[in-house]
Amino acid sequence: MGAVDLHARPSKDFEEKLAATRKLLVLAASEFAPLKQASSLGAEDVVITHLVNSLELPIPVFVLETGALHQETLDLLERTKSLSRAPVEVYRPVQESVVQFVGREGKDPMYRSIALRKECCAIRKLEPLARALEGQKAWITGLRREQSNARAEVPAIDTAEARVKINPLADWTWGDVWHYISVNQVDYNPLHDQFFPSIGCAPCTRAISLGEDFRAGRWWWEDEAAKECGLHVKNEDKVTA
Ligand code: SF4
Repeated sequence: MGAVDLHARPSKDFEEKLAATRKLLVLAASEFAPLKQASSLGAEDVVITHLVNSLELPIPVFVLETGALHQETLDLLERTKSLSRAPVEVYRPVQESVVQFVGREGKDPMYRSIALRKECCAIRKLEPLARALEGQKAWITGLRREQSNARAEVPAIDTAEARVKINPLADWTWGDVWHYISVNQVDYNPLHDQFFPSIGCAPCTRAISLGEDFRAGRWWWEDEAAKECGLHVKNEDKVTA
């Protein structure tokens, strides 16, 4: 059974949520430009890219190609690049930094300590993210309140930091996300069919079992509280970046 069959269960007020999401994206394009959509090519992000394209909004999509993504994700990236109406930008880490880090610490040092995991994320994600967002007034993410306790308060428009964060799916359920994918035949990462709810770098993502938390498949060897890569950590909590 695939992810669509397993998860596509819309909320009773799905149509109202969808209308509000469309309205928010249109507003964001006019009020918060220049802005971009950050995409990990996970289920939420392919929904947002589909909405941006169907609304014909001038919002580019960017993907952080960390050099450690699954082949399935790279394949989806290629398909997205060729089919998306909105420009798809790819940001990669500085090769020299990766070579030095791997040379010094070995191939998968993230399992040895939180500090090394954060250093890897800083090189492969945070530095490219800073480049991707240079000059942008706002960015769009696929954060949802349901994803984890740490995200339970995510607002639709987050003005807590200098760069505004727009979270158009903040109140969507996992069932809403998959209902949209199903109804609109949105192309998605086949890893979702293998019980990966949250998709990141290959060494740091695993499938989850029934009943496990959404984020249980990310950095599963660490404490729950440490499980953000810095992309969505408030300034005061940042250890790296
Ligand atoms: S998620 Fe893992 S592989 Fe990817 S940048 Fe962070 S530590 Fe490195």
